[in-house]
Amino acid sequence: MKSVVLLSGGQDSSVCAMLERQVSDVTCLFVNYGQRHLVERESARAFCTKFGFDLVELDFPQYAGVSNSSDFASGESPVISNRNALLLTVGCSLAQKIGAESVTIGVCGSDQDLFADCRVDYLRVLNGLVFPLGEVKMPLVHLNKADVLQLGCRLGLEDWLKNGSHTCYNGSRKNNWWGVGCGECLSCQVVLKAVGGVS
Ligand SMILES: [Zn+2]
Repeated sequence: MKSVVLLSGGQDSSVCAMLERQVSDVTCLFVNYGQRHLVERESARAFCTKFGFDLVELDFPQYAGVSNSSDFASGESPVISNRNALLLTVGCSLAQKIGAESVTIGVCGSDQDLFADCRVDYLRVLNGLVFPLGEVKMPLVHLNKADVLQLGCRLGLEDWLKNGSHTCYNGSRKNNWWGVGCGECLSCQVVLKAVGGVS
């Protein structure tokens, strides 16, 4: 059985790839949608090299021209309009091309409030529209960040999650006791809270 996992180079999607590998032959997909920091691509490539995953890359940086994916300043909203609709649409196209039965997206419980396109109802509607004969999997959707990190450690990703993956919105690769990042952006704050570093 084949599957596609949307890989950003971050913690959640890395855990998804290792989880899905337990039940299927995984192809990872990285999409350059004009995100501010292509260090994400380097992280996705490093993950696939380190753990032996096939990686397909799609370059669509022009998306930044019609979305807010590259022009929000630090501290402003990190919401990128319709990003997951874009990612799932191309992910489901790849799945149908290679004969995969599912596409996995690494949304987790911590994303639900802020990001409308991470919610179960939204993703299920998309599933029916762009991959009616396949399944959009969201295995982390009921887990908070701490749960995801613990799951990743059980899957052998402890070092990768702390020192390899990239989640910082500011593109920082600074090494800290809790992981890699600036420690100040929303994404880093979620990680810090998960590991008990924020009161
Ligand atoms: Zn950060």
